[in-house]
Amino acid sequence: MNALSQHPPSVRTTCPYCGVGCGVLAKPDGHGGAEISGDPEHPANFGRLCSKGSALGETLGLTTRLLHPMLRGADDRLKPVSWETALDHVAGGLRQTIQTYGPDAVAFYLSGQLLTEDYYVANKLMKGFIGSANVDTNSRLCMASSVAGHRRAFGSDTVPGVYEDLDHADLIILVGSNTAWCHPVLFQRMMRNRQDRGAKLVVIDPRRTATADDADLFLPVAPGTDAVLFSGLLVHLAERNACDVDYITRHTTDFETALERAREIAPDVETAAAACGLESRDVQKLFDWFCGTPKVVTCFSQGVNQSAQGTDKVNAIINCHLATGRIGRLGQGPFSLTGQPNAMGGREVGGLANQLAAHMGFSPEEIDRVGRFWRASNMAQHEGHKAVQMFEAIARGEIKALWVMGTNPVVSLPDAGAMREALGKLDLFVVSENVLSNDTVNSGAHVLLPAAAWGEKDGTVTNSERRISRQRPFLALPGEARPDWWAVAEVAQRLGFADAFAYRHAADIFREHAALSAFENDGVRDFDIGALAAIGDERYNALDPLQWPASASGQGRERFFADGGFYTADRKARFIAVEPPRLRQSTSTRYPLRLNTGRVRDQWHTMTRSGLSPRLGSHLPEPFVEVHPADAAAAGLEQDGFARITTPYGICTLKVVIDDGQQCGSIFVPIHWNDETAASARVGELVAPETDPFSGQPESKATPATIAPVVFRLRGFLLTRERAVALPPGTLWSRVAIAGGTGFLVASDGDVGAWRDWATASLGDIEFAEYSDPPHGTYRLAAFVDGRLEACLFVGPAEDAPRWDAIKALFTADDVSARDRRALLSGRSADGIAESGPLVCACFGVGLATIRDAIASRRVVSVEDIGRALKAGTNCGSCLPELRKIVARDHAEEAA
Ligand code: SF4
Repeated sequence: MNALSQHPPSVRTTCPYCGVGCGVLAKPDGHGGAEISGDPEHPANFGRLCSKGSALGETLGLTTRLLHPMLRGADDRLKPVSWETALDHVAGGLRQTIQTYGPDAVAFYLSGQLLTEDYYVANKLMKGFIGSANVDTNSRLCMASSVAGHRRAFGSDTVPGVYEDLDHADLIILVGSNTAWCHPVLFQRMMRNRQDRGAKLVVIDPRRTATADDADLFLPVAPGTDAVLFSGLLVHLAERNACDVDYITRHTTDFETALERAREIAPDVETAAAACGLESRDVQKLFDWFCGTPKVVTCFSQGVNQSAQGTDKVNAIINCHLATGRIGRLGQGPFSLTGQPNAMGGREVGGLANQLAAHMGFSPEEIDRVGRFWRASNMAQHEGHKAVQMFEAIARGEIKALWVMGTNPVVSLPDAGAMREALGKLDLFVVSENVLSNDTVNSGAHVLLPAAAWGEKDGTVTNSERRISRQRPFLALPGEARPDWWAVAEVAQRLGFADAFAYRHAADIFREHAALSAFENDGVRDFDIGALAAIGDERYNALDPLQWPASASGQGRERFFADGGFYTADRKARFIAVEPPRLRQSTSTRYPLRLNTGRVRDQWHTMTRSGLSPRLGSHLPEPFVEVHPADAAAAGLEQDGFARITTPYGICTLKVVIDDGQQCGSIFVPIHWNDETAASARVGELVAPETDPFSGQPESKATPATIAPVVFRLRGFLLTRERAVALPPGTLWSRVAIAGGTGFLVASDGDVGAWRDWATASLGDIEFAEYSDPPHGTYRLAAFVDGRLEACLFVGPAEDAPRWDAIKALFTADDVSARDRRALLSGRSADGIAESGPLVCACFGVGLATIRDAIASRRVVSVEDIGRALKAGTNCGSCLPELRKIVARDHAEEAA
């Protein structure tokens, strides 16, 4: 072994989670793992990572991986086959479908997790050679309304600003964005601006989130009314003569029409406030701050996008920035924060059914241009089905063959139960995946293709500020895993398109993508990276993060539109007259509440990667519903009890969290849990399949719902070395990664005798100790192999649920001492391992109990003290809002 292999160098790559696009240094350990740190030279994060990024090292490994192609046989079982067999089967199935039913009977459903190169090849095959535009992506669920809003206003899908604007803005407005949890590194950047320069932060959100806790002004807007608020702001700007008349005249059209409509919707502050359920003085304050602050950035995210009126909401925001000319200048502009790591790259290559490629659409000229560039034999002539419509077409039997790549639509789509049922109708159902098992794979996939995962992938991604970064491999491809672009190109070659898909590696694809962006462009399209069309393999491999545009003539620019130059026919922006807001589905006596969905701090999407990290799993280990105290009282719910949430589409049973940050009449459920990780928490099943008429993005935040208490007799937990366990029928469970194994939180109506029978039968010959008290409903069991704790089951009366913190600590020990063994069944460790409680700081593993003990002992009195004493909050800062809350609450309790 040489010195280099003993100390392998760090590889510069990019985080695979959110659209902030942080640079990561990965130092492989030579055993399939890697040490992870932030890349200090990456301009998106300058070395910082959030809790998710910091824990990436815990998510590497092959335990859950799909490593070989699999084909479903006549016995309905998936069996490993060679790539040759799998690819022949896919190509044969596609060919037969196209010949029998035509190209529109085929669809690809892609993902914002794919690299740009993967996306490019899949889009090219479908739109240029199969001849259909039925290519859509989970980005449809994420930021399609921003795309549609940009295109309506700017004539192009352009994010005008850059992250640096967040450092220079004097007013930052966050609309529908829990930035503190969903874009933590950017949020800390905003917080530094607030602290160092005194920038004001306004948060507009129906929920008082962790982000709102740090706001100078929090506006708990009524669901669906954001466009009213920004219509009111437009009117206010006009009446205060705060508009930039010169900019409006020279660079825009339709201002008067948009203003007239805004006056109909929100003629004054009082009307706007009443419609939005806000205090007039708060609305006045927002309007005055906006009027009086030239440097203002308005960031928006899923709370705006995931709406049946998402596009109008985006345009209502953009209207205010156009009216003041506050766009494309340092510290000024509307800013869409994308959810996924490569949503922007997908947009660049045309990964949406209503885009072609390189930011082109479906006009005859553009179809012709792309067709000539690709030398395509069969260009799609019209837009394809957007995500929800695609699955509805599958349900109607119109789409017969579907290829899903890198996403889990059975969890994430609305009305997910119906979507899963639809998949059963397919003649050919192909899934390219990293994992052997997830809800989509388990919905009857006919072919599984093992895809390269993060750490193995080689290509590029683009973040929210148009910055293209390399995702570089630092691990060898395991088993027979291959890049997605390779699998698509192999199928294309089998379909007879070898010349157009003869790529040797990712750099070939990137060069073609860059060349297409510049092809017959001449400044008529925003997306132009022609300067990279001829880069050599070496330069591609060493590519530093760079922002587009980067044209062949060397012209680039950091921001767009300060001096107009929009991508419409007359180069002027369009003001949009938005429609009066109206939620598509009304509440009723049967469904009196509104179901809102969203993310939690330490999990990502459907948890196939983040769910592998014990650290991340400790923060919020089980699925929950947040309910306002008044709604909880009305429904008879108890804190920490359980509730059944019912909508016209489905049912989930979740733990109750009563929280006055939740708006009365509205409940919140996270999106992450699914049938792999919990018994009854696949929230997509509850969500209405209503979509925005322009973007096709589903309304994920306002489904009418009802809630009722569910009572279980017993609660407890199981710790095991196994990953999958068949628990007794009727158990409500959720699964979480713990150090050394897996934890299940359980609740049931069974008696302790049934749990004892189940546990002892499951253990077989393994040595165990037990404590049983049937009259009090208590059963505890601890099983050992060679002195190591192998499994541990605690069940007890639901009102006195056993806690697992001390036992979890013992689970990591190779040899549990005799003393600890004796004490174990008491639920506490004999050698005084402190119960740290639910995790607050994921970076340093600091729990709630530890923090509260420190406050109670007066060792710490402030968040800064906590940082000094316990290190909590001193790395990524994602937990700072929570720490502030804990300190405030404990001090308030003490004062009382
Ligand atoms: S903010 Fe966190 S999740 Fe997002 S890219 Fe950065 S490290 Fe990854």
